[in-house]
Amino acid sequence: MLNPSHSIKRRGLMLVLSSPSGAGKSTLARMLLTDKEELDLSLSISVTTRPRRASEIDGVHYHFISVREFERRRDNDELIEWAEVHGNFYGTPREAAENALADGQDMLFDIDWQGAQQLQDKMKGDVVSIFILPPSMADLKQRLHRRAEDTEEVIEMRLRNARNEIERWRSYDYVIVNEDLDKAFHQVVSIVTAERLRRDRCPGLFDFVSSLLDEKLD
Ligand code: 5GP
Repeated sequence: MLNPSHSIKRRGLMLVLSSPSGAGKSTLARMLLTDKEELDLSLSISVTTRPRRASEIDGVHYHFISVREFERRRDNDELIEWAEVHGNFYGTPREAAENALADGQDMLFDIDWQGAQQLQDKMKGDVVSIFILPPSMADLKQRLHRRAEDTEEVIEMRLRNARNEIERWRSYDYVIVNEDLDKAFHQVVSIVTAERLRRDRCPGLFDFVSSLLDEKLD
């Protein structure tokens, strides 16, 4: 017997997560990628010119590259989108993302509002965008300090940039207030589940419905 949810081919979707730094987006992304709910998402690994943090691994969290190399890739059209964020360059490698989507693999993009806008413009129907808000600005500040991975100066700059980022909330498909991490996680899972079932994402449904209607009953 045909199992529709496994056999109906569809193109992968681009799940874009944005938020000001400190709103819990990276933790949420990690939870989504550990496949708790068998989400089977893969992460788009960005290139960046930002210096690597002590906790980060090259090729896992980012591909850390020089400004010169970044400019080469950007000018060679190797990035689907790119932006300058907090004084560093970030970009999404085109090839890995396009191959995954064509293969039906859903991908997670942890990118800022500038990148989200570019993907929405270029990839339209493939993109599902979610904006994560902190419950308060005080909470955001606290989380940035608790992370203790950046200097005081960098934290201040990230806080100033947070307002600018938050003002972009209207251009996202979904908005989640991250007051409780587990609740926010389940909200993202619900969005992914529903988006995967959208009729227009499953061209394979035509064949399934035809075979359903052709099925001979005893
Ligand atoms: P962080 O330096 O804290 O890792 O990231 C800073 C910001 O850059 C975050 O908002 C993150 O989502 C964003 N970012 C990371 N990779 C990309 C990318 O490839 N493109 C864009 N536009 N933003 C990115």
